[in-house]
Amino acid sequence: MKKLLSLALLGALAASVAFAENFTEINTDKAKALIDAAIEAHGGEDLTNNLHTLIIETSTKNYSVDQSRGTEAPWDTSVNESVDAIDLDNSIFVNLAAGSGGGFEFNNGTIINGDDSYQLNFRAGTVSGIAEPDYDTTSGPFVRVTPALLLRTLKDREANAHFLGETSIDDVDYNIVGFSMTVGPAISLYFEKDTNLLRRSERVFPGFGLVEYRFDDYVDKNGVIYNQSFTLYLNGDVNLERDITSVKVNEPLDGLLEVPTALVSIPEQQPDPLSRQELDDGVWLIGGNGTYAMFVDMGDYIFAAGGTAGIPDRIESLREAVGDKPIRYGMLTHHHFDHVLGVAAYEDEGATVIAATAHERIARRAAADGERLKLELVDERRIIEAEGRRIEIIDIGPTAHTEHLLVAWLPEEGILFEADHFAMPRVGPIPPAVTSTKTFAEALARQGLSVKRIVSAHSPKPGTREDLEQALNREEFQARQ
Ligand SMILES: [Zn+2]
Repeated sequence: MKKLLSLALLGALAASVAFAENFTEINTDKAKALIDAAIEAHGGEDLTNNLHTLIIETSTKNYSVDQSRGTEAPWDTSVNESVDAIDLDNSIFVNLAAGSGGGFEFNNGTIINGDDSYQLNFRAGTVSGIAEPDYDTTSGPFVRVTPALLLRTLKDREANAHFLGETSIDDVDYNIVGFSMTVGPAISLYFEKDTNLLRRSERVFPGFGLVEYRFDDYVDKNGVIYNQSFTLYLNGDVNLERDITSVKVNEPLDGLLEVPTALVSIPEQQPDPLSRQELDDGVWLIGGNGTYAMFVDMGDYIFAAGGTAGIPDRIESLREAVGDKPIRYGMLTHHHFDHVLGVAAYEDEGATVIAATAHERIARRAAADGERLKLELVDERRIIEAEGRRIEIIDIGPTAHTEHLLVAWLPEEGILFEADHFAMPRVGPIPPAVTSTKTFAEALARQGLSVKRIVSAHSPKPGTREDLEQALNREEFQARQ
């Protein structure tokens, strides 16, 4: 009886395994056939065997969705120029990017080339080595937006590709294949049925939303086809429009791998674990990994400034120093998404969130229960005093970065907390001031604030008045020769 039962069980197992195998096999075979058809449509042998290097220049218009100076559309736009170059046989990748946006100007380079890998900053005139260059991770964003490279990667990883189904959008029929690269969430690729060309792709980022890419205006170069325009949609809205202005195939990368000798060498960025420093009696700056908050002991309670990532960890660290005092206030500097992440944490603490009046909608949206969020709005200035300590919360906007910016000003200590206008670099010289910094300095002058130390939401290192002056007086290093 026992034997019979186990045999029957085995039989049932075998049947279900066979069924599962069949289903999987049918699906992966279909995916493989679609991948082969797409490879053929995109260049066949010329794509898989005869493509060695690629140099692509682009001009991109960015829409600063939820990251503009104001809180609503139409969003601010900005344009950047970039060069991406890849040597597929030798795992070499170069990215050069220059442009502006949100009151920031940048002109940077990254070279991934084994032991000769570097991070370049042409505005500051600095270069640092990269001790552990990661070709796959660094080139990934370029590969994902370049159909020729994406298809080669898809072919290499076809063992984990799946046929996801068929769909029709705006009278065009598509087959959809899903796969994952070595890093990042799975990608769904939409191949146009008539041509087998890659037209769309999409990925879902938990907590962030749906990112869609569109590839248009294909042209032939050395037997491989390249799109001349690219559009990125974030949750259905245009986020980025790119023109591919130049495509060079199988040309050497040599010139792009050279580091201009005039650049000053600085140490490589090291990891930045959570740390706590007492700036003054009862005034702490706590953070790590690029985001920091300031906490002020008001006697019976704590005042917190800044709403960036990791507020719960920062509060935990604070409690090691001050014990169980309640957080009574949590001040938001401005409405950008990376500066309202702390709202839910303050809400959890039972604290009152302080925000600029113009940022009410965004602050409530960031809360778990927006309607019931304890919120205090500041028009121009709000003063908090306790136990002989004075904090002035001042809207010093407008700046080039945001129309309204709340700072926490401690007149007695000469300490000012701000975000996104003047962050001291962790290593290397102070770079020349960007427009955001210049307008911040103007705002401080307008308000008549004689600041001794500027504490930023994005640096563990407070800057002095002299540091700010130095940034304002430094000239930009000349752009790449
Ligand atoms: Zn910002």
